[in-house]
Amino acid sequence: MKTLGNFIHNEPKASESNRYSPIFNPATGQQNLQVVLSSAEETRQAITIAEEALKSWSKVTPLNRARILFKFKSLVEDHADELAELITKEHGKVFSDAKGELTRGLEVVEFACGIPHLLKGEHSLNVGRGVDSYSKMQPVGVCAGISPFNFPAMVPMWMFPIAIACGNTFVMKPSEKDPSATYRLAELLADAGLPPGVFNIINGDKEAVDVLLTDDRISAVSFVGSTPVAEYIYKTASAHGKRVQALGGAKNHMVIMPDADPTQVVNSLMGAAYGSAGERCMAISVAVCVGDEVANHLISQLIKEIDAMRVGPGIGLSEEAHMGPLISKEHAAKVRSYIDSGVEEGASLIVDGRQFQYPGHEGGYFVGPTLFDNVKQGMRIYDEEIFGPVLSIVRVNTYEEAVNLINNHEYGNGTAIFTRDGDSARQFCEDIQVGMVGVNVPIPVPMAFHSFGGWKRSLFGPLHMHGPDGVRFYTKMKTITARWPTGQRAGAEFSMPTMK
Ligand code: NAD
Repeated sequence: MKTLGNFIHNEPKASESNRYSPIFNPATGQQNLQVVLSSAEETRQAITIAEEALKSWSKVTPLNRARILFKFKSLVEDHADELAELITKEHGKVFSDAKGELTRGLEVVEFACGIPHLLKGEHSLNVGRGVDSYSKMQPVGVCAGISPFNFPAMVPMWMFPIAIACGNTFVMKPSEKDPSATYRLAELLADAGLPPGVFNIINGDKEAVDVLLTDDRISAVSFVGSTPVAEYIYKTASAHGKRVQALGGAKNHMVIMPDADPTQVVNSLMGAAYGSAGERCMAISVAVCVGDEVANHLISQLIKEIDAMRVGPGIGLSEEAHMGPLISKEHAAKVRSYIDSGVEEGASLIVDGRQFQYPGHEGGYFVGPTLFDNVKQGMRIYDEEIFGPVLSIVRVNTYEEAVNLINNHEYGNGTAIFTRDGDSARQFCEDIQVGMVGVNVPIPVPMAFHSFGGWKRSLFGPLHMHGPDGVRFYTKMKTITARWPTGQRAGAEFSMPTMK
């Protein structure tokens, strides 16, 4: 069995650990690879390498750091098909989705290429007589990143491009379910000329993560994953004196007002609910219909659209599927059991994806698109994150009921309102207790030059990912106040250099 090890100091490093985790192709259920689960000691060694590299990397000028990222961006573009295929074969999402993930990740790289501008800091002349003040933004030190399975390239790229552009070094712990794309990015960074030790990959599980959370030499931890783990990461790493941004789970609602454009609603909802098999932290899993008429019409349209959906392997079909399999056998079973619980708790199952199988891929982890009506607070399919292709319709009578429903939910990652009325939309943006809001936009993911993050139990820590918050997170501000003695100007007056 082929084994994926670590990538340390710009080189593959076989692990001394004898613990491994299997990597499956979700479309077939076949295992092609195993990944090492590194020991605590190996993780500490990776930190030592990153700490050593910090001494020189933090002194490289921002312009020269950016030049390496420019080269990296062009290498990722050159290898986009190969990377997308790796993602599809380990995650299961369809090939075009995998390429889309790379594009979104590269946008953060493009943002990070502007680092000389982003690190200009602040300057005030004459804060007192003859006294000037300025703030400089310095690297925080060795940073750690821990990422989830659902975006094996994009989520690491939310973190490391800005961290290293700011002059930090990095130890990345990818998801043990689909680590190959992240590993390949590390190789491409090395090819782009990143000095050894600046970016390192340590593969593993809780044993490796716990070292990253507690070792004194790590200054900052970025995490994306489920809420219970995000909370654990935040509490543990904060207790060990680190700055932490820990993004957690989600339950994203889309409010459909009676005046919304019905065609736009259905088209948006199909992609937002079922794209990537619902394994997106910004997927819409609840459609909140204001009025029975809205709900009845929507359901009749969704049934037709779901019927026309192609579900299948993410790669290799003559016409690409709309949706691939789920990440693992266990996760597919969990999603099916959520559907069972919805039925038991009294929701109306309109479309049932539990029995779906793709011919010739009976070992694949497929669950078909599923639709529930009459879903209510208190049902597990409403209260909990399912992270699968299951859309719930909740019926309410008024806009206020819709807003209260969303604001009472424990998660606050993303939400959207569909309406033609500017006043309702504006009020919604004001009232809603959610970090990312769409107006007639179903998945309002902020661009790289804005910051990404939810509210409530979808984010632990004050700073969001990438954009301006990303730069704040990966830098420490130092403010200098300077006064120089007057009347002692030495030598000749300043003059421009002359051409020879
Ligand atoms: P997960 O929490 O199981 O794992 C995430 C990472 O944490 C992995 O690298 C894993 O190895 C590590 N980990 C798992 N258990 C751990 C433990 N007990 N101690 C230390 N480390 C541990 O998440 P997942 O299943 O890989 O990803 C899906 C989840 O991620 C969903 O809940 C989804 O909403 C969330 N997510 C959130 C965002 C966001 O921006 N808010 C983005 C993507 C995914």
